[in-house]
Amino acid sequence: MDKIIDLAIIGAGPAGMTAAIYAKRAGLDVLMFEGSAPGGKLVKTFELDNWPGESHISGVDLALKMYNHTTDLEIETDFTGVKLIHDGHFKTVETLDGRKILAKAVILATGTVENKMEIPNEDRLTGHGVSFCAVCDGAFYKHKKVVVIGGGNSALEEAVYLTQFADEVTVIIRRDVFRADQVAQDHVLAHPKIKVIRHTVPIEVIGEDHVTAIKLRDLVTKEEYALPTDGIFPYIGAAANTTSVAHLDVLDPNGYLIVNEKMETKVPGLYGAGDVCAKPLRQVVTAVSDGAVATQMSFHFIMSL
Ligand code: NDP
Repeated sequence: MDKIIDLAIIGAGPAGMTAAIYAKRAGLDVLMFEGSAPGGKLVKTFELDNWPGESHISGVDLALKMYNHTTDLEIETDFTGVKLIHDGHFKTVETLDGRKILAKAVILATGTVENKMEIPNEDRLTGHGVSFCAVCDGAFYKHKKVVVIGGGNSALEEAVYLTQFADEVTVIIRRDVFRADQVAQDHVLAHPKIKVIRHTVPIEVIGEDHVTAIKLRDLVTKEEYALPTDGIFPYIGAAANTTSVAHLDVLDPNGYLIVNEKMETKVPGLYGAGDVCAKPLRQVVTAVSDGAVATQMSFHFIMSL
């Protein structure tokens, strides 16, 4: 064992960084773990127009401001991924490089990973017409044409959301039927701005600096064609980053961390914050709220030990 700390925070996205700021200010000995760049999904977001106090701010700038806030407070970040969290009187955080760190409490703030289409130019044009967040980026598509990939609840709900801005929303599904519930289907099928293309899959994103079209394959006729569009919103499922706690029986059937309104899991001393949690709205503002609540509750837990 290398060291014993009060609070380990796994993930340095908005939820984790907020939790760390609150922890440091509460006088806790806190350590954040981050396997890649700080900022989480913020660094994949071109621009935010819904962060209170900033009419427009780039995701990268907001991530940097948050991270600078943590360094101003001399909060240490360990840039190592976490492999496993073991339960016990103290929790043991096992890092990918084999270290074991004891912590009195742990906040899991590891977010989610969107399933990708895995087609050419998807990565290059993410943030330039390919977006995984309609709520964040929808307003950039006023009077434009957008495509939504997927037929689950997320895809159909976001398709309807996008009709506030876009003139035309095309939903592409790979089967004849949707996966979403009937209410969402009825809403989409009755919407005058939404068109549905069935038994079709995306095979290539087209564009130089920005998306101009998506290449599609009709699975019945085998025809391949380019559909002109300004934006592509893939909603083909996302996976919560919960492998480090999967053995603790704290996940819902979709793999998300189950927390109560105090961000407590059923394991005493283990908390969740942000997108990794089962919750109805995944936004930066809800993530930072979770982080603050999780730290406040973990502070009381640590003091009670
Ligand atoms: P889902 O797994 O429910 O749906 C994913 C959709 O993407 C399906 O239509 C699937 O097609 C399609 N898809 C998957 N992979 C590909 C691919 N490679 N290419 C093309 N299409 C693909 O994911 P969601 O994120 O929509 O929802 C996750 C869970 O959260 C669900 O249980 C959902 O009900 C729930 N949810 C509930 C909400 C609510 O109740 N308001 C809101 C949002 C989500 P196929 O069907 O053919 O497999």
